[in-house]
Amino acid sequence: MERSPASDGGGLVADGCTPAVEDAGLVDGMMLGLSTVDTPTTASVTTSQVGATSPDAHYPKQVGVLNLSPTLTDAQSVVHMLSPMGIPYAVTTSPVLAIQHDMTVLFPEASSASFDAQALQLLDDYLAGGGLVVMKYSEVDALKQRGGVLSSTFQLRHQWVRLTDAGKLRFPSLDQPFEQNIPLGGDPTEFLNTWAIAADNSASGVRVLANFDDGTAAIVEHDVGSGHVLTFGVDWRDVVLRNQLGHSINAARGYINVFEPGTDAWMLMLRDLYDATVRFGVRLHTAPRGARAALLVTHDLDWGESYTNAVQYAADEQAAGASATYFVHTKYVTDSQDVAFFGPERASQLAQVLASGGRVGSHTVAHSPVLDTFPIGDGTERYPAYAPFNVSSMQTTGGTLFGELRVSKSLIEGALGTRCIDHATVTFRAGNLAYHAASAPTMERLGYRFDSTRAVGDVLSNFPYRAMTDWPDSLDTSVFEFPVTLEDQLPPRIDQRVPDALSVIAANADNGAPTTLLIHPNVLDYKENAERDILAGLPQGVRAMSLDEFAAFWRARDAARLVSINYDDQKKTVSLVVSAPEAVDGLTLRVDRSVVSVMAPPEAMLVLGDRGNLVVLPALPSGGTLSVTLGYM
Ligand SMILES: [Zn+2]
Repeated sequence: MERSPASDGGGLVADGCTPAVEDAGLVDGMMLGLSTVDTPTTASVTTSQVGATSPDAHYPKQVGVLNLSPTLTDAQSVVHMLSPMGIPYAVTTSPVLAIQHDMTVLFPEASSASFDAQALQLLDDYLAGGGLVVMKYSEVDALKQRGGVLSSTFQLRHQWVRLTDAGKLRFPSLDQPFEQNIPLGGDPTEFLNTWAIAADNSASGVRVLANFDDGTAAIVEHDVGSGHVLTFGVDWRDVVLRNQLGHSINAARGYINVFEPGTDAWMLMLRDLYDATVRFGVRLHTAPRGARAALLVTHDLDWGESYTNAVQYAADEQAAGASATYFVHTKYVTDSQDVAFFGPERASQLAQVLASGGRVGSHTVAHSPVLDTFPIGDGTERYPAYAPFNVSSMQTTGGTLFGELRVSKSLIEGALGTRCIDHATVTFRAGNLAYHAASAPTMERLGYRFDSTRAVGDVLSNFPYRAMTDWPDSLDTSVFEFPVTLEDQLPPRIDQRVPDALSVIAANADNGAPTTLLIHPNVLDYKENAERDILAGLPQGVRAMSLDEFAAFWRARDAARLVSINYDDQKKTVSLVVSAPEAVDGLTLRVDRSVVSVMAPPEAMLVLGDRGNLVVLPALPSGGTLSVTLGYM
């Protein structure tokens, strides 16, 4: 096997293979005779959960995450903010170890037993020396006092957190109204847990950074010596994890085609604090190769003609220097929805898409709007015995989650196999964005790595995140979710709202966040024009690429670690070590603007920016380690 230049990463072309046309056709409404590739169903995959970082892996430029709860995984919500932001961190249960870091996050609970006189003395020394403590409201008197807060009122009916002028200064990334007003959601029967904070106005250096909608304080900062303590009156398990799980309580300001950073805002706060506090802090940038951000172009092939059009879209995208992921609906059962259209001609069309640089993912077998209600199945489902049937627009018989994932994958890989392409299908999107709560753990048993089924209004996030099992367990899985932010089906027609789409892309790019765009290629003319206009009008520094390409970058970046960061005030250098468990191309560091040169390695490239500079690293092989030396003014 060798990599074919024609397939461009989408698959391997087998030597000595002769392309064949499938002898398949409709028999009683079923497309029979299609080729398949056996898709193994593995045992459940075990993904390591958030736990303590070994003491020898701590260094001061990480955020020290202090978890004093008996449940170590309670730090998960903090990791779900720091990890997408690329901020190095270490989790500990020791207050003394936590304050070895320039910035410390205390979550979720503290008890006075954890802070004896000696620990409090060290904490005071830490703050006097410029340390930063960020915590959820605590009932520990010594912590309240250092936070400049007196007490709190639990569970008032709050629906919003709004930044004050002081908050806008403290969190410069939150510079848009939708970022400065953060929705908590809520309905007449259910509200998030909140702690309305009574700030100690008699203490000096106390500022309210954000209020709830009733005017009570939601975030309070207290200057202590040259250090600071920030107290949050929300629980990040609610405003981050709960949202990412799709269980916000009507918090979103729209379903899709809207800038909705309700989850992202909490991550950006920690990022702003890290950038402002940690001198020579370094973090992993959120886009590859020094790009400011990415547009993730995707297409769902839901109709026979869409496949013919897809070949044209892929050619357009290649001509524009872009690429896209094509999600394939492998419909082989005629039902109330449509005729079985996944026939023998699809193989060469998908091969052409790959040859133009496109990528191919699965878009189910049945495209059922009620996929989220399907039984999970057992992982033995196979073509053609598995025959899901849409009785009506809201009723499907014979479908399982495993069947939708497994059989579609086996058909895509079987079809491409007839074109001598060895294809690994790792990306999935459900029809109608009908997210099944067991998706992530089921996907990973079939070799899928990336999901793009959540609408931005379901999760209030534009940044990808690690998909979880359903709550209350909410365990991390190996699958990453890439929410869909822009689509082409809701009115007005997409060619009439290109400026709106570009403004959403620009607002996300301002945060370094990607934007996922979905265009159905059932139509060429006006949709083709709209895509061309979007690609031509992208904000500066935004690069369009397939979801698969970005996702592979994101996964490898998530696995990468900043192993150490040191600086030398005499030589005026910052030196750091990056390790890459997975091969990664285009990994980019975000450094302070005072960093103005790259001394090593010679292949690394400095890109100057407004809020910080970027250092584009050379490609790292799997298991690679790289030492980087930077010079500052
Ligand atoms: Zn679809």
